[in-house]
Amino acid sequence: MIRIHELPGEVVRKIAAGEVVTGCYSVLKELVENSIDAGASFVEIEIRSGGKEYIKVRDNGTGMTLEEARLSLKPHTTSKIATIEDLDSLSTFGFRGEALSTIASVSRMLLSTVGVEDTLGVTLEVTAGEVIGEKFFNGARGTTVEVFDLLFNTPARRKFLKSVSIEGRMVTEMMQRFILSFHSVDFLYIRDGQKVYDTRGLTGIEDRVLMIYPELSRRDLLPFKEETREMRIEGLVTLPVRTKRNRMGENIFVNGRYVRQFELNYALERGYGEALEKGNFPFAVVFIQIDPVEVDVNIHPQKLEVKFASPATILEGLKRAVRSAIRNAGSFSIDIRPP
Ligand code: ADP
Ligand code: MG
Repeated sequence: MIRIHELPGEVVRKIAAGEVVTGCYSVLKELVENSIDAGASFVEIEIRSGGKEYIKVRDNGTGMTLEEARLSLKPHTTSKIATIEDLDSLSTFGFRGEALSTIASVSRMLLSTVGVEDTLGVTLEVTAGEVIGEKFFNGARGTTVEVFDLLFNTPARRKFLKSVSIEGRMVTEMMQRFILSFHSVDFLYIRDGQKVYDTRGLTGIEDRVLMIYPELSRRDLLPFKEETREMRIEGLVTLPVRTKRNRMGENIFVNGRYVRQFELNYALERGYGEALEKGNFPFAVVFIQIDPVEVDVNIHPQKLEVKFASPATILEGLKRAVRSAIRNAGSFSIDIRPP
């Protein structure tokens, strides 16, 4: 008797789902990134019961044709890369082509989309990865993905979802990062029927920071910018008197991706020198833009780290930029000694 056999595709997909679907927030992240990749200028997000019961992401991006919509639900189908070399100049979030198919394989999904050249849209009804219905409708260009009963067909894994309030909080934190990172995209975020965030009518990043951190006021925010040929580092930091006891107020984005990378957070804090008391951390929104060839994003979807070709330049640049912002903070005088 031969003990080794190939796993059925169905089983392979369910196992792989454990990597993409690590919580409701990760489903939301993949769907919103798809909307941004599709060039949306408005994205509406709705969740119920922390996302465990229902997640909706609606956008006004390019949409898909019927053929594309069907393909998008198959494993490893993407419109974003074709060759391995394409990874070197990647300008989208997605490239693996596994998110939609994986999420669809462990949920009940409605995928509704209207393509650029189409007048008729299609809704695909999917259960555990199988398309069980197609309906046509008239609607505006864009895509809506609705996910019901996440992990309903892998009950053991569904048990590992956190409580409704924790799942919901993680989704809200994910939304905060999207709102800060993509300030030219409008977001509406509804949680259990309540409007949590609506960026329509806000102008600029400062407004968004103040919406997310209502404890701050406009005069707490110090802008900074540092530009060289290879990179641009800019953003906002708070005065050293406006701090938090943890790093949750530190938002660092590399080419639009949220990262949690100790060296970067530390460089930001070092910019404050002595002005930052031990155990205190600033609020900050930092955008690091670098040539895609200088940074490796070909890492695990859930990893919050990136690899820089020359990290020292970035870290020094960030520290210097923050330092000059603090130094120039007009009426605010504090002695910043070199570390
Ligand atoms: P990836 O983003 O890595 O390409 P996904 O599984 O997330 O893989 O999506 C598969 C494909 O489906 C995408 O490459 C894109 O062409 C299409 N797609 C997914 N979501 C959207 C959307 N919101 N609008 C338009 N096209 C989409
Ligand atoms: Mg994707």
